[in-house]
Amino acid sequence: QAPKLPWLQRLREALGRSSSNLTGSITSIFTKRRLDDDVLQDFEDVLIQADLGVETAMRITDRLSEGRYGKEVSGGEVKRVLAEEIERTLDPVALPLELDLEKVPHVILVVGVNGTGKTTTIGKLAAKLTRAGVSVTLAAGDTFRAAAVEQLKIWGERTGSQVVARPIGADAAGLAYDAYDVAVKNKSDVLIIDTAGRLQNKTELMAELEKIIRVLQKRDPEAPHTVLQTLDATTGQNAMNQVDIFRNVAGVNGLVMTKLDGTARGGILVAIGAKHKLPVYFVGVGEGIDDLEPFKARDFANAIAG
Ligand code: GDP
Repeated sequence: QAPKLPWLQRLREALGRSSSNLTGSITSIFTKRRLDDDVLQDFEDVLIQADLGVETAMRITDRLSEGRYGKEVSGGEVKRVLAEEIERTLDPVALPLELDLEKVPHVILVVGVNGTGKTTTIGKLAAKLTRAGVSVTLAAGDTFRAAAVEQLKIWGERTGSQVVARPIGADAAGLAYDAYDVAVKNKSDVLIIDTAGRLQNKTELMAELEKIIRVLQKRDPEAPHTVLQTLDATTGQNAMNQVDIFRNVAGVNGLVMTKLDGTARGGILVAIGAKHKLPVYFVGVGEGIDDLEPFKARDFANAIAG
């Protein structure tokens, strides 16, 4: 059993594994070489391999060459520029999740591919909210998987939140509609709706998400107020494709990157931040109830740059 470490240290250790690649590469690229086109090209390739994205890699490389071209630069200086540029990219999207509790229930629809951590993130978020005195109703909208419904019920018990569920195969939009009424009746501040994430059947999934949104808007034209997508950090480049898809279908307006504790591939968040500019509200750093942390650009940048 791994010792329980503070989340930032765990994040550093996990990302440090990737940045030990990155750090190793930086050292071997820059040692005893002057900054010329070959060196810059090697550096850019390494950044692209670390999933940072072509545009960001080019920007960082340009930034490094400014005023340093033709000179020798230390690994430490390269890492400093790298961390600064990653922070510059991600700082604008490192935003807190704001809830307008004037108009309740605030509806949070959680979308994402199966296995990316939707249900777990909902549980952790419900815990954060209820502890802060914000009351929550949960809707088990992944009506395809018995395990997802059971998991959500467990989170409901842990957080003292009512879980609205229906038998497997039931219509998710009908469930969402009913859950809205239950949330109103409970006087809940927040309604969090889980959804299915079967990318195997994209057309059906899209139709289902669109229908859920449509029925919610019958109750409140501004619902869902937050459409949160979970991304699994261990999938690297795949996470980018998933945002491309779900943003279109479900109007995603916020992200959570999960499983940053167990992977070396968090660099993709930099590429996603640069391209989509969607708020990153939280990062998941473990399976436990407390393992959801606000996203901090500087910590993340320093952990990646090593
Ligand atoms: P869903 O299918 O999108 O609802 O995904 P789940 O919430 O069921 O999560 C899939 C698996 O990932 C479960 O075993 C979770 O415990 C695990 N998981 C979710 N978030 C994290 C995280 O931040 N870190 C780790 N290590 N595991 C996580």
